[in-house]
Amino acid sequence: MISVAIDGPAGAGKSTIARAAAEKLGFIYVDTGALYRAIGLNCIKNNVDINDPAKVAAILPDTEIRVVFFNGEQRVLLGGDDVSEEIRSEKASMTASVVSAIPEVRKFLLDLQRSFAKVNSVIMDGRDIGTVVLPNASVKIFLTASPQSRAERRVNQLREKGLEADYETILKDIMIRDENDTNRSIAPLKPAEDSVLLDTTKLTLQQSIESVISIIKEAAAL
Ligand code: C5P
Repeated sequence: MISVAIDGPAGAGKSTIARAAAEKLGFIYVDTGALYRAIGLNCIKNNVDINDPAKVAAILPDTEIRVVFFNGEQRVLLGGDDVSEEIRSEKASMTASVVSAIPEVRKFLLDLQRSFAKVNSVIMDGRDIGTVVLPNASVKIFLTASPQSRAERRVNQLREKGLEADYETILKDIMIRDENDTNRSIAPLKPAEDSVLLDTTKLTLQQSIESVISIIKEAAAL
């Protein structure tokens, strides 16, 4: 079984690149950000004050998150409802970023994340996969890009879906999330010592996918 950890800041293209690489290599792609988003969404739905860690921790025992794969595509179920689309809103993003700094939340999701890599070859993306979730991953990649190019890509993504997108707002959100993710005391966003750094600022999507596949093939001797 091969496990690939891809970490990096919001909007670096992790999910698109990891999904494409997983499909090419026949691995399962696991998006761990979706789990934090589901916790965030659950707080929104239940009017839980996300700035009060004790209140967020208190509803975890009643939070039922399940992950299923349909045709290789990950779906996230919250209390039995498929929330895979709902968790993509900007509000859910910001909420996820806040609740993910709560130790009880990270602990709550740890075994679930690890369970995927026990039975499948996986590419798992997140912030702390190479450092905390899968410290023995076969391959670790830290994927990054400048905040400006990440914001531009996000704007294009949303506009392609026919959604409204304001560059300045998105850039600001990305910078706030970077700040939250990098400076939190628990499992902060940082490259694992044994990770390969890939900056995609000047790469096209296709070039980024090819680079990731070749890093994996080389490191895992495929
Ligand atoms: O990757 P995505 O943007 O969907 O993640 C949403 C939020 O979840 C991030 O801003 C980050 O705070 C948190 N996260 C995390 N650890 C992970 C994955 C995501 O803290 N492994």
